[in-house]
Amino acid sequence: MSASDRPSAFEHYRRNLAKRDQDERRILAQIKRFLECFWGDPTLREALSTRNDPVSLEACARSLGLSLNLRDLAPLWEKGARGAISPQEAEAYPLVQLWRGWIADLVSLRGALRAQGRTQEVNPVFDAWRERQIARCESELGDMNQVMVHGVMALELSRGCSVGCPFCGVAAERFQGHWPRTPANAALWRGVLRQAVELFGPAAQSSVCYWATEPADNPDYPEFLMDFHEVVGELPQTTTTGALKDPAWTRRLMGSWQERRSLINRFSVLSTGVLRKLHQTFSPEELLEVELVLHCDGSPLPKAQAGRNRGLAGGAGEGEAQGLQSTIACVSGFLVNMPERSIELITPCHSSEQWPRGYRVLARENFTDPLGFRAAALSMQERCMATCLRGTDALAFREDLSFERLDDGFAVSTSFKRYSMTGQDYLPALGRMIADGRATTGEAMSACLEKGADLGAVLSTIETLFERGLLREPLASWGHPPAASAAGSKF
Ligand code: SF4
Repeated sequence: MSASDRPSAFEHYRRNLAKRDQDERRILAQIKRFLECFWGDPTLREALSTRNDPVSLEACARSLGLSLNLRDLAPLWEKGARGAISPQEAEAYPLVQLWRGWIADLVSLRGALRAQGRTQEVNPVFDAWRERQIARCESELGDMNQVMVHGVMALELSRGCSVGCPFCGVAAERFQGHWPRTPANAALWRGVLRQAVELFGPAAQSSVCYWATEPADNPDYPEFLMDFHEVVGELPQTTTTGALKDPAWTRRLMGSWQERRSLINRFSVLSTGVLRKLHQTFSPEELLEVELVLHCDGSPLPKAQAGRNRGLAGGAGEGEAQGLQSTIACVSGFLVNMPERSIELITPCHSSEQWPRGYRVLARENFTDPLGFRAAALSMQERCMATCLRGTDALAFREDLSFERLDDGFAVSTSFKRYSMTGQDYLPALGRMIADGRATTGEAMSACLEKGADLGAVLSTIETLFERGLLREPLASWGHPPAASAAGSKF
């Protein structure tokens, strides 16, 4: 399905929302509030594990301001964080079914948002690169990749972050000031957004306006978002730790979410005290479409072993070995800092010595105006986004892949995924050459052809390995895309 035929992630979300009437939304909001209290407040968890008789449950619901019978939600909380609920079990609990349906729809939004980032019609070079990064992350990051949207841009509106979370996965720098929405800055902002729409089309709507910055650090953030809506066509998602910092700012932001029908947004919650205050400030209905990300003590939500939190599970790489999340980066595209007027090309990876923040920075430039922004983005595309390997390019597997010889071919794998290529006479030799990493693409192809291999078949093997993100990518000196691949491109 082409991007223009597919419903956008925003339509997808609104359709799912419209499936629930007002009564169901009210009940969902109450279930959500109860689960937030349950997972965000160890005292409540402890109390319910020892006293769950009908009288105590009713008293508990009343103390939380809820009119639910908590017994009707038992499968959601009795088994703890890892208790899977079977469909048969859920059948006996209509409210649990209602809740599971809501969550399933929210989870399906991730796929819709990832698809929102496709640019095959407006910018096929970028699209092929982004698809290859997603394929690479599939074998490099495993399940973590399932939750990654790979948005096309993150735009920062401050320098650094004032919150200083000790677990910050992107190791945000100390706050050095926000970017005010002066007339000149608003003009630059809108100009950059217009260029982004030129470059990415509707995929620009998969962007966010924060990264290693806190939206609440910028008093003008809600107005910048309205500019975004006007130029890009939708409101970007927001995650903020600062919902309580200035209630007027938060109400302005939430007003725009309602008025412009944004996607689900997030408040990060750093303590049980903050959770209680949020619940006092906002009604369950007001927070139905705001996910509370619970970082409170004792919350089952794991913190990624990346950025400032890197290595806390042990030595470098140990978090990864234990299957812990090792990145929170979810952009394969451009990271733009407006006050610095900088643009970087980034893509997720495991947090490491080289890339402690859990993403690779492939190129960096500065710009002074919207056309400079466009020129920098296109220059990075040309330097870093190959659409195929040239004959002179080195042909080698990614360093993190294990190579395996097979009688009729070869396989490469990580702890998450294994790919095998078999059934052609040239494959064992080609696999060994790529594993050695000493031949160029042209040399490896010639060696296969000398042994009687079919040119088309060898090309197709190399292309498949390349598209799956299994080959090492040189970061510079890429050639222009072949004419056929560039057909329909604006570039
Ligand atoms: S996690 Fe978010 S709020 Fe906390 S320091 Fe990092 S960027 Fe700031």
